[in-house]
Amino acid sequence: MYLFKILLWPFLNFYNLLMYDWTEPVPKAFIKPYKNLKDNVTSCIGALRAFGLAYGAIYYVSPMIQPKGIYPAFDKHIARTFEFGWILPIVFRNLVATAIIAGGWDYTLHFSPFKKLFQPFKFNPKYATREQIKHDMFWTFIGTMMGSLVEILYLYALANELVPSVVEMNLFHPNYIYTNAIWILFISHWRLAHFYVIHRLIHPWKTKSIPDIGKWLYKHVHSLHHKSNNPTAFSGTSMHPVESFLYYSACYCSLPFGVHPCIVIGCLVDCAVGAWLGHDGFQSPGAGDYFHYLHHAHFDCNYGATHVPFDYLFGTFVGEKKHLNKVWKGKKKGSYGLEGNSSFSIHEEEKKKEA
Ligand SMILES: [Zn+2]
Ligand SMILES: [Zn+2]
Repeated sequence: MYLFKILLWPFLNFYNLLMYDWTEPVPKAFIKPYKNLKDNVTSCIGALRAFGLAYGAIYYVSPMIQPKGIYPAFDKHIARTFEFGWILPIVFRNLVATAIIAGGWDYTLHFSPFKKLFQPFKFNPKYATREQIKHDMFWTFIGTMMGSLVEILYLYALANELVPSVVEMNLFHPNYIYTNAIWILFISHWRLAHFYVIHRLIHPWKTKSIPDIGKWLYKHVHSLHHKSNNPTAFSGTSMHPVESFLYYSACYCSLPFGVHPCIVIGCLVDCAVGAWLGHDGFQSPGAGDYFHYLHHAHFDCNYGATHVPFDYLFGTFVGEKKHLNKVWKGKKKGSYGLEGNSSFSIHEEEKKKEA
């Protein structure tokens, strides 16, 4: 039953909403620095959901929309050259999935008749403006195109033997079933370690000993994602194309091991769906991630996720607002948070609104 509830998003959210004890006040949102066993199991089940969607995309959707009736990874002749015939169905499939999942969830929380029921659980009581939603939607669709590019380059590299061949195409082969199961269950864990690294690199490094390339990257690349300081699902992958490419390239970490295409594409799906649901801005029974919400609200903290607790290890973990004082202790006033990051000019509008 537990397994079922997680796999059946968004039904789980509605189930929790309907079961909610309205006589109790809405609990204050907070987050622990690392996941306990139960939370880790929940993440593994979430990864299973991403794998399931990838499995469906590869074995059921691709045969319907690919001209040769097969996912290109299974026939080395298809992706040897870049041709619209096999590329366009991939881009089309990914754009439709984005509209259904991210669009459907934003509609549910912000515009549908259920809006009122979810309202008490919103982290920021104000709703995102239509301008922000439109802005984020545009960049999320560009992000999906970059994610598609990551997938297309993977298929091209596989067909041209630029990366190791897939060790075994049968996912359930008795010699590989356990290795595959580990890769699949821990998709979120390994891809979020990659996320921490790239995300930390595109925020100011706050160092004087070497040139602060992170500050430059923040200004020219990552600040676009931080335009959404009251995030919605569409904010999840509302990123500069360079950042989207780096973000989705998490799946390449698995290529040297010759893993099955379902694991590579499962990682892409987890990147997308994890970001969309994680940014929805609502605590349970919404799907939002308070940990990352605090990153959007305060910038210089919570760069990764609690699956791999690098923030806890490197002293940038914030579980509730009061932890910010600890993280920023001893730092020059005005060098952190909205104030510190607004010197990059892109946040001037937000600053004016707050004044
Ligand atoms: Zn974000
Ligand atoms: Zn950031």
